[in-house]
Amino acid sequence: IIACGLFAGSVVIGLAGYYLARLALVPIQKAWERQQQFVADASHELRTPLAVVKTNAEIMLRHPENTVEQESSRVTNILREAIRMNKLVSTLLTLARADANQLELQLKACMVDDVVETVAEQFRPLFEIKGLELHVNIEPQIEITGDRERLHQLMVILLDNALKYTVPPGQITITCSRLQNQVLLKVADTGCGILPEDLARIFDRFFRGDKARHRETGGAGLGLSIAQWIVEKHGGRIRVESVPNVGTQFYITLPVKSKV
Ligand code: ADP
Repeated sequence: IIACGLFAGSVVIGLAGYYLARLALVPIQKAWERQQQFVADASHELRTPLAVVKTNAEIMLRHPENTVEQESSRVTNILREAIRMNKLVSTLLTLARADANQLELQLKACMVDDVVETVAEQFRPLFEIKGLELHVNIEPQIEITGDRERLHQLMVILLDNALKYTVPPGQITITCSRLQNQVLLKVADTGCGILPEDLARIFDRFFRGDKARHRETGGAGLGLSIAQWIVEKHGGRIRVESVPNVGTQFYITLPVKSKV
């Protein structure tokens, strides 16, 4: 009986140990898979611009007699793709550093109204050229503890998307106000909107709503994942509401005093 008891006991302990070890490995396995997916997606994104550069260079080498003027469209293609790759690589580095916890916010007293206003005015001519109306409604003197450069980047991402996904005669509305200990920031557009089934995934890395549309607009599907990182690092929240063919609203709340 004692031997049986000892045997049963050791089987139970062994099984418990095995399942505990497996449970502990699950997050590591998940992190590993996420990392592998990230590398695969990043390589895929780099492959297209690299192919364009390679093909254009090869064609030019076949005609050494041609002048730079004659090859100007190929040179322009190479330059455009090089700029795209440069942008992509620096975005990937940002995300990799954020993942490794090597990217910290530079928290200081920062006037959010000023950041929002600055970016809105930078985008105004771009909206105007495209035939879009810009409405800006900003409460003055909203001071928070934040990273000015990152908040600037957040606004650029949201306004760049509003610009990309809205066709004339559309409207972009930016509102920024303070409510007790929070800043409420809203960026609304009357653009193409987001399909209900895509809403939950738009903050995922490399997610793009419509592949065909994106080949034109050229995004890599990384902007909103960086936007989410910036907001959450400030201790805030970002959410989206959207109706296809009606428009999209991004709502951001930021604490006035960041705990991070
Ligand atoms: P991208 O570089 O493709 O714009 P983002 O991460 O910024 O990448 O956005 C992810 C996806 O979310 C986009 O591909 C698009 O489908 C959708 N999206 C983001 N902002 C808007 C918007 N203002 N209107 C419509 N769709 C949007």
